[in-house]
Amino acid sequence: MLKVGFIGLGVMGGPMALNIVKRGFPLTVFDLNASAVEQLTRAGARAAATPREVGAASDVVVTMLPEPQHVESVVLGADGVAEGLKSGGIVVDMSTIDPITSKRVGDELRRRGFEMVDSPVGKTSEHAATGTLTLMIGGNPAAIERVMPVLECMGTDKYMCGGPGMGHAMKVTNNVLATTIFAANTEALAIGAKCGLTLETMMEVMRTTMGWNAQLGVAMPKKAFVGDDSAGFMIKLAAKDVRLAVELAKAQGFEALVGQGALKTLQNAMDAGFADRDTARLLMIREDQLGVKVRPAAASTGKAA
Ligand code: NAD
Repeated sequence: MLKVGFIGLGVMGGPMALNIVKRGFPLTVFDLNASAVEQLTRAGARAAATPREVGAASDVVVTMLPEPQHVESVVLGADGVAEGLKSGGIVVDMSTIDPITSKRVGDELRRRGFEMVDSPVGKTSEHAATGTLTLMIGGNPAAIERVMPVLECMGTDKYMCGGPGMGHAMKVTNNVLATTIFAANTEALAIGAKCGLTLETMMEVMRTTMGWNAQLGVAMPKKAFVGDDSAGFMIKLAAKDVRLAVELAKAQGFEALVGQGALKTLQNAMDAGFADRDTARLLMIREDQLGVKVRPAAASTGKAA
């Protein structure tokens, strides 16, 4: 059985790593947050003191970290995973990072006799807990095949997106779309509510038009419409994803103007102190700005934690 390592045991990585232990893989973990590590060791994982130790104990090391620079330093930095891995070891990065960094890290790993697969994930922390994430997979076929039993602990919807970095390209493409739609929803609903339309009327009408989208129909009723901005998908991570897309567009030679608008919306929310709250907070911010309630009155008090 493959020996697995896992680094980055946060909102997503914690439950993903638990699912690997539950399937019986020997698992070694590392995170800067001691209580996140403890949850995993209680479930049977072994704690390592550095990413290098995780590499040394593992055939396959999964990373689920916030930003591109974290992946680069944890994998290639001093005391990083690559310093511990044995020849043929594979890093599977499941974080949302840009395809340019992804390719650079992968190329360096391959130069040193290792492999890298990118498999960022779609859906939410609920799906991380149930092992039903969407997996957007990029890499060389032999490496993908070798890590598939580990990936299958975490996700059910698997999409082969192409060679190294293509999973990350797919993820950034998806997230700039999902987040700009979310931000646009909060704007449109606030405009309508300020005119006096009820949420019920707006939803009923838009369900039949080209304005309809899964954020309105699936995501917002669960959090934004019930006033719950407890951290599911944090504003700071949404902003990071959109920033990656805006920068990628720039590197490709064009300005992602819609993305820039969403990024400014998210930046304003972070400046107001909401970086660690769920993106649901964007709707509440609009309500406060306009002095209207989009949400039904019973749900408009907000959730504190
Ligand atoms: P999180 O902030 O909850 O977790 C990140 C974890 O990484 C934390 O436990 C943190 O302590 C750890 N960490 C940070 N730097 C580290 C380092 N140098 N060494 C070791 N550990 C370190 O974030 P999350 O919500 O779990 O998201 C992780 C990734 O998944 C991000 O790239 C995010 O964009 C992506 N993602 C999140 C969601 C979501 O709904 N939350 C969905 C899909 C994808």
